[in-house]
Amino acid sequence: AKRRGRNGYLFYSHRMAEQMRERMVLEQGLLKAMEQQQFRVLYQPMADLANNRLSGLEALLRWQHPSEGMISPARFIPVAEQCGLIEQIGEWVMRTACQQGQRWLAQGLTVPRLSVNVSVREMQSPDYVERVTAILAETGFPAERLEIEVTESIIQSVDQSLRLFTRLKALGVQIAIDDFGTGFSSLSLLKSLPIDRIKIDRTFVQALPDDKHSRELCRTIVHLADSLGMAVTAEGIETQSQRQFLQSLRCEEGQGYLFSHPLSKSHLATKLTPHCSA
Ligand code: C2E
Ligand code: CA
Ligand code: CA
Ligand code: CA
Repeated sequence: AKRRGRNGYLFYSHRMAEQMRERMVLEQGLLKAMEQQQFRVLYQPMADLANNRLSGLEALLRWQHPSEGMISPARFIPVAEQCGLIEQIGEWVMRTACQQGQRWLAQGLTVPRLSVNVSVREMQSPDYVERVTAILAETGFPAERLEIEVTESIIQSVDQSLRLFTRLKALGVQIAIDDFGTGFSSLSLLKSLPIDRIKIDRTFVQALPDDKHSRELCRTIVHLADSLGMAVTAEGIETQSQRQFLQSLRCEEGQGYLFSHPLSKSHLATKLTPHCSA
């Protein structure tokens, strides 16, 4: 037992050193990344499961690091949150996405809905709503087409979320709860907030259609969304059988590699259809 403990400790300290090194690389790099324009926004299509039409786009951040290569947001967003850079980065993502969305609209292309991820920490900053208001005014992107994706963890503070969401809704912006099913929010809390959409986390979708637990969970979430009058999107759809199962539940929207990977703005533009002014 002692040996295992000692190995465990050594392993742990080695890992800690690794993590500290990585954190320093990321933290120092993040400061430069903004100035040197190393960030990119990709856009992943969402599809109406009934007719396969494009129903929305999710803006996803990428960091092209000069020496470390492409770094996943799953790695650097938590660091940006901890060192207080998330507000600045998040604001840049939203401005970039809204500018791009408005540019597509001006070109006569259809942008059904544009979703931007917002971290809880960012949303809780005191001037968050003012910043969204300013970006909408500055870019001219229609508020009704902007959706903000926030994780369930925000629901922990219901009073605060209610005030915040109410102000965002007053702007015309829509609100989606991301990664739904992975947090511990109670369903009754969900009911008391003005939420437009629930996104089923991809871990449940990926276990479809074989895993019984995931099948039941997806079924429950789709029914829940239905009865609360919320839209529902299943993320991470990779196979036809996953898609078919979700369609059989009458889940209305899907996102995942089966439809498209996240794309650069120029690549995506080739997939947008002209407005139909009927
Ligand atoms: P998310 O919001 O849940 O975004 C969906 C993630 O799933 C994206 O990963 C997307 O590329 C990936 N994905 C889409 N379809 C599939 C599929 O069929 N299979 C699999 N395995 N994955 C799929 P990505 O782009 O690496 O982003 C990871 C996370 O980083 C996001 O998860 C989101 O939480 C966060 N993130 C990304 N961009 C931003 C941002 O601008 N701001 C903030 N605060 N967070 C962001
Ligand atoms: Ca998301
Ligand atoms: Ca998600
Ligand atoms: Ca996720």
